[in-house]
Amino acid sequence: MESPSPPEPDGSIYLDHAAATPLEARVAEAMREAAAAFANPSSPHAAGRAAKRILEDAREQILELVGARTSGSNRDRLVFTSGATEANRLGLLGLAAGRRAAGEAPGWVGCSARDHGSIRSAATELARDGWQVVELPLSASGQLDRRGSSIGCDAILPGGGQVSGRQAAGILTVTTVCGQTGIREDLAAVATVAGDRPGLSIHADATQAAAWDDLAFADSLATTLALAPHKFGGPRGIGGLVIRGRAKLAAVAPGPQELGLRGGTEAVALAVGFARALELATAERRERTSRVEGLRQRLEIGLLAAARKAGIEALVVGGTAPRAPHVTMIALASCDRQVVALAADLAGVCLATGTACASGSSEPPEVLHAMAIEPRLLAGGIRLSLGGTTTAHEIETAITRLGEVFWRLGPNGQPGGSMSTD
Ligand code: PLP
Repeated sequence: MESPSPPEPDGSIYLDHAAATPLEARVAEAMREAAAAFANPSSPHAAGRAAKRILEDAREQILELVGARTSGSNRDRLVFTSGATEANRLGLLGLAAGRRAAGEAPGWVGCSARDHGSIRSAATELARDGWQVVELPLSASGQLDRRGSSIGCDAILPGGGQVSGRQAAGILTVTTVCGQTGIREDLAAVATVAGDRPGLSIHADATQAAAWDDLAFADSLATTLALAPHKFGGPRGIGGLVIRGRAKLAAVAPGPQELGLRGGTEAVALAVGFARALELATAERRERTSRVEGLRQRLEIGLLAAARKAGIEALVVGGTAPRAPHVTMIALASCDRQVVALAADLAGVCLATGTACASGSSEPPEVLHAMAIEPRLLAGGIRLSLGGTTTAHEIETAITRLGEVFWRLGPNGQPGGSMSTD
C-alpha cells in the first residue's frame, strides 16, 4: 500500500505532482540502504565493485520494468542522466551526433507544441547545425495531427514530393503524455504513419507516462525513451535514457562512464531509488490509476461547477481526448493564469500554469495555441496534477478553496470581481 501523504507544513494542498512528487518512504529506505555502498563504481577495488554491482542491478531492473530487451547481442541500454531534461537532450542531440560521427548529413527533426521545452530547445540547437526543424501540427484534441501525411517525411521535407534514403533520415519526437495537459499520444499509431524508413529514429518522452503506462519498450517503435523517477515517488537528480539495441548515439557530455555517453561518477543510491520507485509504480499501477483518475474527474467536475457559480466560463483542455489519470488543465475565460495561481497559492492550493520550468513565462502555453483554443481561454489555463498520495479529502478541500478564489475573481477574472455583485 501507499505510504501516507507527507504532512504539508503550511496546510497547503499539493496539486503539482506533474512537476515533482514526494519521495516515497519505501524508496527512501532503499536509497538509505544503498548509500552504504559509497564507493565510486568505477574503482576496481572491492568497495568499488560492490557499488558497481548495485548500480548495474538497478539499471537491469529498470530495463526490465520498461519492457526493454535485456538479453542477446542486440540488448537495449539505459544511460543514467540528471533527469528527463538531460535524457531528452541526449536522445535528440546524441542521435544527431551519432549520424555526424558516421559521416552522414543532417536530416530533419519533427517536434510539436506537446513537447517539453528541453526537446524544443534541442531541436533549435540542431537547426544551427543544419537540421531541418519541422513543426508537427496538432489536432483540436491536442494529439499529433495524423491526417494525410503530416507526420510522414515526404510531406514535411522542404519541397515535399518523393524522398528516400539519406534525405528521409530524421528524428521524430513523440511525447506520450503531454506534461501540460495530460493528453496522451499513441506512439504506435504515430510510428505507423511515419512509416518504416531507413534512417528514421523516434525519440519518445515518457516522463509523464511511466507511472501509468506499460511502456513495453522492446515492442514499441521508439529508438530512445526518456524517464525521470521524481514524477512517481522517486528521487530528484536522476533520470534515464533507454536506447534501442544497435541505435547509434554519440556523446553530448563525454566521459568514461555510462557507455561513454555521459561522463561523471554515477549516483548509486539515486539509481536504486529510481529502480525501486518504478517497481512500486508498476506493481501498484492498476489500483493507483483507477483511484487517481476518479479523484481527477471529481476535481474537474467540482472546479467547473465552482467556475460556473462564479460566472467564469471554463473548460477542461482536451476533455474528450485520451488522457493520463493525473493531470488536468482547466482553461478559465478572461482570467490570467498567473493571477489565479498566485491567488490559489495564497488560498492554500499549490498548482501550476504549465510545466514548472516554463512557469515564469508570460506567454500562454504553446500547446493551447496549437490546439486552436479560443483566444478568450488562452491566458487562463491552470494545470492541476495528482499523485499516488493525493486523497479525496485534499480534492474536496481544494475544490472549496479554489471555488472561493474563482468567486473573488468573478467573470472578469479580476480580484474583487464577484465581491462587488454580492
Ligand atoms: N518531459 C516532460 C513531459 C515533462 O513533463 C518534464 C517535466 O515536467 C520533463 C520532460 C523534464 O523533466 P525533469 O524535470 O526531470 O528534467
